[in-house]
Amino acid sequence: MSAQPDNTEEHPVPEHHSAATAFDDLLEANRAFASRFGLSGFDGVAHRGVAVITCMDSRIDPLGMLGLSPGDAKIFRNPGGRIDSLALEALVLGTHLLNVDRVLVVPHTRCAVASNSAADLRTQVGASSGKDASWMSFHVIEDQERALREDVAKVRSHPLIAEGTVVGGFLYDVDTGLLQHID
Ligand SMILES: [Zn+2]
Repeated sequence: MSAQPDNTEEHPVPEHHSAATAFDDLLEANRAFASRFGLSGFDGVAHRGVAVITCMDSRIDPLGMLGLSPGDAKIFRNPGGRIDSLALEALVLGTHLLNVDRVLVVPHTRCAVASNSAADLRTQVGASSGKDASWMSFHVIEDQERALREDVAKVRSHPLIAEGTVVGGFLYDVDTGLLQHID
């Protein structure tokens, strides 16, 4: 898999792994992880009552940036950190069944889907794949702050997200690590 598109980051040349060994380093790390695993039998609720909707971007550590640990929060990620139908489904379940009462919607600075047009992304994917990408839809964001306010409003107005849920919209700065409260 190649690096995610971001015209401000360097693009490392993707390594070509063989299917037989592609995951070896990760599985070795997993065995070490399991040997010190401490969450056995832990329930699946959000112990700090938090849900975070944020981007897939590899620069974002959703738990770390909020001082949280595994078990504390529900995390939902997609390109751009958008409120789509699956994010709403996650929040309906989270707020009714999984102890969530605070929702943070967190897009970020220098996001590929907020700094490229759909045409740009089609061109880049077309060049990378060597195939026609003109049919592919990308949910690009033209005005990040306006999109965030609309996304926050979708959560606040959803009829099946539990009453009393507090929803905030924040912009994460990938160069300082700081969150700015927008809405
Ligand atoms: Zn992003």
